[in-house]
Order: sequence, then C-alpha cells, then structure tokens
Amino acid sequence: MTVATLPRKGTRQYEERLSLFTDPDTCPTDVLKPVPLVEEQAFISWQQDIPREYLHLSPEETDRRISDARAYLGARLVILGHHYQRDEVIKYADFTGDSFKLAQHAAAQREAEYVLFCGVHFMAESADILTDESVRVMLPNMAAGCSMADMADPDDVYACWDSIQEALGGKGTVVPITYMNSAASLKSFTGKNGGIVCTSSNADKTFKWAFERGDKILFFPDQHLGRNTGYNMGIPLDQMVLWNWHKPNGGLTVEQVERAKVILWQGHCSTHQRFSVEQIEKARREHPGLKVIVHPECSWQVVQAADMNGSTEKIIKTVSEAPAGSTWAVGTEINLVSRLARENPDKTVFCLDPVVCPCSTMYRIHPAYIAWVLEGLVSGHVVNEVKVDSATREWSLVALERMLAVR
Ligand code: SF4
Repeated sequence: MTVATLPRKGTRQYEERLSLFTDPDTCPTDVLKPVPLVEEQAFISWQQDIPREYLHLSPEETDRRISDARAYLGARLVILGHHYQRDEVIKYADFTGDSFKLAQHAAAQREAEYVLFCGVHFMAESADILTDESVRVMLPNMAAGCSMADMADPDDVYACWDSIQEALGGKGTVVPITYMNSAASLKSFTGKNGGIVCTSSNADKTFKWAFERGDKILFFPDQHLGRNTGYNMGIPLDQMVLWNWHKPNGGLTVEQVERAKVILWQGHCSTHQRFSVEQIEKARREHPGLKVIVHPECSWQVVQAADMNGSTEKIIKTVSEAPAGSTWAVGTEINLVSRLARENPDKTVFCLDPVVCPCSTMYRIHPAYIAWVLEGLVSGHVVNEVKVDSATREWSLVALERMLAVR
C-alpha cells in the first residue's frame, strides 16, 4: 500500500527527503526526539502496510495505547530490546541486551505465548528458533534488517564452501562459523557442516571450539570480527585471507586457501566501519588521558589503536565500572553511547565519531509499529510474525545450541 501523505517518487519533496539519507553531511541523529511515524524522515522507504491510523499518533497517544495493550496481554507477552534501539523503544523492553544475551533470554522463555523482538530480522529469526514452536515471534517492522547480514547471500556462501573443499582436495578440515548476524539458512548450513554460531561476546570461545575440531575456519559475514578474534588468538594476519564473493574462487589461489588458518568473508557493518584511527588520534589530542573502547566489528587498525575492545555488553560493563571522572571515547552505535553517557553522569562519555548516524536498520523500529503489533494481538491477529521453517530450524538450532553451550 502506498501512503498518500508521502511525496511521490520523482517529485522535489521526494528528492529532498531522500537527500537526508544520502548526504554524508546530514545525519538523522538530529531527529532522534520522539515524533509521529509519519514525520520520521526515512519512513519513505520502510514497511508501509501499517494502517494509516498509526502514522499520525502522537508520542503520548502511542505510549498510552502500547501500555494498555501490554496490560491486557500481561505475562503472555515478552518484549526483547537490543541495545541499539532508540530510547522511546527500549523503554518497553522486558529484557535488554546484545544479540547473545537476548538469545539467552529467548531460549529461557517458558511462559510467554508471544515474543516481540525490538531489533533486526536475524535476531527475531534466532528467537523463533530458540523458543518453543508454539511461541509466536514478531518483529515490529519487517523492513528492519541488517546490511551486514545481507552481504552473505546463502548461495554465495554455499559456492564458497564447495570451492574451498575442492581447493583442499580432502586435505584438512574446515569448520564454518557464522556470526549471529546472518540469515537462518546460513545458521542451518553451519550446523549441518559441523560448525557453530558466534556473537561478539563469545567469538574467541567459538574459535577455540572450532580449532579443537578442525584445521581451518570459514568465518562469515563480518571480516572484522573474524580478523580481530583470530589476531587476538595469535594467528598472523597473513594466515587470515579475505574471500571476495564478487570474484571467482573468492579471488584466492589454491595455495592461499591451503596456507590460511582463517578464511574471512568480505562483509562488514556499515555503522562500525565508520570509525577510524584518525578519530582516535583526534580524541586523544583533545582529551589527554582518555580511554578508547570500540566494538570488534571495527577494523583491525581501529581495534589496535583503541585501548580495548569488546561486545556491547562488555562496553557497558567497562564504562559503568570505570572510576568517576574518567573520560571515554566509544566506538559503537550512537543510541547505546548516548544512553551510556546519560547513565554515567560522573564520567565523560562520547561517541568516537562526532557525526555518527544510528544503525539505520535498527532505527526502523518506531513505537507506532509496536502499537500496531500489540493491538493486533489484543484483537487476536498476529502481524509481522517471523517464522523459520522446520527444516531450517532443525540445523540452526544445533548451531545455536553449540554456541550457548561453549564456555
Ligand atoms: S549495527 Fe551493523 S551489524 Fe548491527 S544490525 Fe546495524 S548494520 Fe547490522
């Protein structure tokens, strides 16, 4: 359905709205205050089959309707919220966390009939896999995906796997590891081929697990998390090769594949790729004595230039437990950093990138979508359900349970 209040494609108004999201000098962080959905600048490209009545709801009315629906649904509903969600969404979460912690919460649900996942699509898929088949998992906005996950097309990964096996000719065992940020079909492929899922909280443990079972790792889709994890384990950079999925045989020779300990998929996170060594140097010049902590989805160079790196959970713990008066430059998503700054008024906490944008796909979750989905449940309709088919679910569950079991 096309929403009539939005400018038509090709008109000046359409181009103006679009430019807000293509102009590198413009960042939608300046519109992070709660507004009705129709005023969200990027709504032009989001899921638009939401009934029109939700477009114009004021933040107060949306909040009241969500609260009423939650009260009605009670313990039948659990809302999970990823740390990168904006404040006006995360406030509804029963549990917050990074993808690992939320996977644990999803697996622990025994009472709930419904799980609303305020995050992105691959997280809702994982929640569906980890919960009982009777639990209905929903995503507020089906357009909330992950650009990194989209960089690993399943057919490309299967072709890569076959090419590697052919190059090795039966010499050596490759263990696939997929980052949580991937489609369920890739988790299933990983489970079927003796591999494991990882998150940034446990990537090191899953690497260790894999090397106990094989000689090489195929890691996808995030090259940076793979490279940073391998390097921390003492694997030289020249033994971690990059599989360029645009090129035949990944652009690698048979010798390069034979020699590699880790084969990294050429994928990245567009949010974390923005952080640079220059930003770290500038922050150090301007704030003598500051500490820099970054997410391992940042490049190897950035991670090496920082004082420490870790998952969002580790970043939160480190900054929260730091001494009063300390100064922190943080290299991760802006919603998390802004919240961390507010929750630690005794410290100076700021984002490493002064014009960093929020994760544009996480930002697609707006309270109006939550109201729509919850009021649907109240009236007996499940909208935006994320359902993984049983064949995919079976092997994905194997790979996810291996991950939850690593210590
Ligand atoms: S922050 Fe990066 S990896 Fe995470 S959901 Fe957004 S695009 Fe994907």
